[in-house]
Amino acid sequence: TARHKGKNQIEFFDPEQMEKAQQRLSEENDILMALDRNDFAIWLQPQVDLSTGRVKSAEALLRMRQADGSWELPEGLIDRIESCGLIVAVGHWVLEESCRLLSAWQSRGIMMPLSVNLSALQLMHPTMVTELLELIHRFRIRPDTLFLEVTESRRIDDPNEAVAILRPLRNAGLRIALDDFGMGYAGLRQLQHMKTLPVDVLKIDKTFVDGLPDDSSLVQAIIQMAHSLQLGIIAEGIETEAQREWLATAGVEFGQGYLFAKAVPVDLFERRYLDPDGHQGND
Ligand code: C2E
Ligand code: MG
Ligand code: MG
Ligand code: MG
Repeated sequence: TARHKGKNQIEFFDPEQMEKAQQRLSEENDILMALDRNDFAIWLQPQVDLSTGRVKSAEALLRMRQADGSWELPEGLIDRIESCGLIVAVGHWVLEESCRLLSAWQSRGIMMPLSVNLSALQLMHPTMVTELLELIHRFRIRPDTLFLEVTESRRIDDPNEAVAILRPLRNAGLRIALDDFGMGYAGLRQLQHMKTLPVDVLKIDKTFVDGLPDDSSLVQAIIQMAHSLQLGIIAEGIETEAQREWLATAGVEFGQGYLFAKAVPVDLFERRYLDPDGHQGND
């Protein structure tokens, strides 16, 4: 095949390569069109106080309009958006929508915080920090109402690099949550650096919550670590009352999961969880 030829040979006649390039282009085109046609949306999943059940905050989750009119995050879509190089554009759109929403709430006196997912590629983009600070400024939002959910990743395995990116954001008042905590590849090596990472909250991954209440030793260890580092904790993927009860008793303040609610469109979230007087909703 073409691979065996020299470096400057006509490699793009390799049909396999050609097909891949075409797939990439059409994927890229689909995503650009979706952005253009407003076929992306953020939906909100409530994050609740585990002892009172009150909704305290929300996570913004990306959804895309499907051919049948439903809204979903198709399996693997984020990965495909990353590999065709559009994660920075889509990620910026998500951040802008989230800031717009926070700004609308705050002008009504609603201080409910919002969590937004950032991909590692987006986080490492050279203009990410300035663009995000510009959004905060432009929409005049209270920075401590925006939580950035970052996942540990091979791509930011250099803790110094992660610190260099997260520090100015946190100094500006934004909050940082470590998403899918416990799932990362770095394992113990990462724990060593937890003390230096500018992080406010650990999100316990659903995989660990799934094992509760029977299989609790890992969750127990994560909770102890979070407490000793004085980090907040939120548990994700809570589906049963037994899980909620175990977590609340173990001192986990917040959680999210289908036991409480799935992600819903913004207008539905507002009707359900924000009261019309502009105060934070109670359920
Ligand atoms: P994540 O940030 O860990 O989000 C949690 C996922 O678990 C969400 O799936 C949510 O709908 C789902 N979930 C929440 N509670 C439960 C539960 O009780 N049971 C079950 N089975 N699932 C639950 P979703 O919306 O499909 O998102 C999947 C992942 O895609 C997210 O994981 C996040 O990593 C990524 N993602 C979503 N939106 C964005 C975005 O705007 N930007 C980036 N970069 N990534 C995003
Ligand atoms: Mg998340
Ligand atoms: Mg998560
Ligand atoms: Mg997860």
